[in-house]
Amino acid sequence: MTSPTSDTFTINGDRLWQSLMDLADIGAYDDERTGLRGVNRLALTDADAAGRRQVIAWMEQAGLAVRVDRMGNIYGRREGTDPAAAPVLTGSHIDSVATAGAFDGCLGVLGGIEVVRTLDERGITTRRPIEVAVFTEEEGVRFGTDMLGSAVAAGRLTLRSARALTDRDGLTLGAELARTGFDGPTDVRLAPPHAYVECHIEQGPVLADHDVEIGVVTGVQGISWQKITLHGRAAHAGTTPTRLRADAGLAAAQIVVRLRALVDSGEYGDLRATVGHLVVHPGLTNIVPARAELTVDLRNPDDVQMTRAEEALAAFLRELEGGGPGLSVTTRQMARTAHVPFDEGVQKVVAQAADDHGLAHISLLSGAGHDAQEIAALCPTAMIFVRGEYGGISHNPREYSTPQACAHGVDVLATTLVRLADQD
Ligand SMILES: [Zn+2]
Repeated sequence: MTSPTSDTFTINGDRLWQSLMDLADIGAYDDERTGLRGVNRLALTDADAAGRRQVIAWMEQAGLAVRVDRMGNIYGRREGTDPAAAPVLTGSHIDSVATAGAFDGCLGVLGGIEVVRTLDERGITTRRPIEVAVFTEEEGVRFGTDMLGSAVAAGRLTLRSARALTDRDGLTLGAELARTGFDGPTDVRLAPPHAYVECHIEQGPVLADHDVEIGVVTGVQGISWQKITLHGRAAHAGTTPTRLRADAGLAAAQIVVRLRALVDSGEYGDLRATVGHLVVHPGLTNIVPARAELTVDLRNPDDVQMTRAEEALAAFLRELEGGGPGLSVTTRQMARTAHVPFDEGVQKVVAQAADDHGLAHISLLSGAGHDAQEIAALCPTAMIFVRGEYGGISHNPREYSTPQACAHGVDVLATTLVRLADQD
């Protein structure tokens, strides 16, 4: 047997690509804005269920033993020579946003299955089992909480609260699991795997900017979402003197400008701030806005700096309230996750695998949330990023990674999984 460090495993890139394209046919729609074909597979819709059935069929064709848990998470297991050893886990998600491409999440799931096909063809056995996971409702678009299936599997959220979540039509996740046939019998709490590695498109421009194919992901930055509502007073645009107004629209604009000033000050680490949603009421030309609603999305790789930025925003909101009569502010935290650092040992295995495949790589932090940040609570975890085209645009039908980029990412995944699965 060759030494583990010299063993590399090259997958079948054409077969991987065909799987990606076949899965993209399920839930496909014609996107009017881009003129392209997009993917719409919101979690536990009929389209998602059809995609799940296709993935299970591929898992079974690849000889995997499939189980489904109480959250609809799917696991396909390839036995190791030591079946009692904790498995090496890989995977991702196949649910999508409403205007998605073919790659987000799917690359990690279909890449995991492609690794198994490759190992079977070569007659490769590993000491530890290898399992491929499909996590439910990663996007959080339908039931309002992202990384939902993996968060319950890792124990951060309870099964009961997750199954009680409702969509816009009042349908519960539990009922939709039952309706689609994915209310599985297996216990949702995952026994700690030996390690978890997730291959995913970067969804950003950094790898292309550095002209490298592979990203070794060092962790996921902290995320803070809040909704701010400004209550002012409706007034006539012509008859109400400026000094007597409580203008909710003006206050909203001041928040947008202040957030940018916080970022530009450089005093809050590598802070990113976005106001992606802003509406004023009643929304009429000649009425001073009575109310404004906006969302604030803060990202920071440093938890202390994140808290400082949140405090600076809160202080500014108090300042706005005190600045004139009649203006009040309410806030609601919508999401808050801390920085999740990934395991250095697993990162080293990924970086070595990329080197052994002759692929240039850099280390980078993930700007988006992923299932890996949940599974990281259970076992040593890291991610492999694959470069995207067009600035790494994602959650859009223009999302694209080349067949070669996808194949290279899964080559690194294959070599990484085998090396981890042969560890003691
Ligand atoms: Zn994803």
